[in-house]
Amino acid sequence: MQREEVVRVLGRNGITITPQRVEVGEVLFSRAQHVSAEQIIDEIKQHGKSVSKATVYNTLNRFVAKGIAKAVHVNPERTFYDSVITYHHHFYNEDTHEITDIDPASLVIQQMPEIPPGTELQDIEVVIHVRNKQDI
Ligand SMILES: [Zn+2]
Repeated sequence: MQREEVVRVLGRNGITITPQRVEVGEVLFSRAQHVSAEQIIDEIKQHGKSVSKATVYNTLNRFVAKGIAKAVHVNPERTFYDSVITYHHHFYNEDTHEITDIDPASLVIQQMPEIPPGTELQDIEVVIHVRNKQDI
């Protein structure tokens, strides 16, 4: 996504435009990818610009709240930000810390528990944790 398009998307979603938010958006939406906040900070720095950690986290959380990015929490210490917001699931490799997409058509949920009274289903997102085979 080019800078002008990032500005348009942020504006359309009621996100106040700041140079830092546009910077974060440019990195995140540059391609279909899963990135950590740290990776985004590193890439912004590589472009010779500086941005605070707090700004990046706040911006990413704002993007997620507005539905223009997805947060994938693979464990309490690790969150990936996904530039693809269409319905899909993920594999997470505990050894390599790689996250990859699962086509939703390849994962069928056959039975669901009753959801708690007074609630409605919002989303189902599956993270399948794998690890490299151990040599025997
Ligand atoms: Zn994904």
